[in-house]
Amino acid sequence: MNPWIAKAVVLAATVVMMAIRAPHGHRSRSVKVAKSHKTPLETGILVLAWVGFFIPLIWVASPAFRFAEYPLHTGPLIAGVMCFVIGLWLFYRSHADLGTNWSITLEVREGHRLITQGVYRGVRHPMYSALALYSVGQALVIPNWVAGLSNLVAFAVLFALRVGAEERMMARQFGNEYSAYTARTKRLIPRVW
Ligand code: SAH
Repeated sequence: MNPWIAKAVVLAATVVMMAIRAPHGHRSRSVKVAKSHKTPLETGILVLAWVGFFIPLIWVASPAFRFAEYPLHTGPLIAGVMCFVIGLWLFYRSHADLGTNWSITLEVREGHRLITQGVYRGVRHPMYSALALYSVGQALVIPNWVAGLSNLVAFAVLFALRVGAEERMMARQFGNEYSAYTARTKRLIPRVW
């Protein structure tokens, strides 16, 4: 199958993801940060996340990763598109539910509220579930070992290094309210984990 189909899908998914995030990035800058927990490790995680996100665009636009190419098949392409659609829907919903409480890094904003409704009702990290689905989608759609796996590797590192620190920050900020929320929810997959 022609890899241009995969390139068109990846480009469309990237544009949709950026369009979902852009207004929130803009809006969250207008709410003051009360406590920042941004460490040098967090900065490193963010740089890695950006690299993982942009490598597929380099694959779309140039032959730089041609050495790692393999044939594209219909099955993985369709499964990948489904992951993109569900992942982007969840990415949109989690942004809508978090509202101005969202930050790109570990921060508590002025007037920060603990969100436990909408897609936050069953899992504590639906935005990370969305990023996981998006990364799996990319691995299935891009027939290239480097560009296909870049986001998945970056996400796995982000999740492994961040989620513990984020939950400790939330527990310090919201005390019993957060422990009760933790007790009745899972991290990424409703009812499972
Ligand atoms: N881990 C969450 C949010 C990612 S954005 C998810 O995957 O959906 C990271 C920021 O969101 C954190 O710095 C924290 O300030 C904020 N945050 C995380 N969970 C929250 C919640 N349940 N309610 C309000 N803010 C939250």
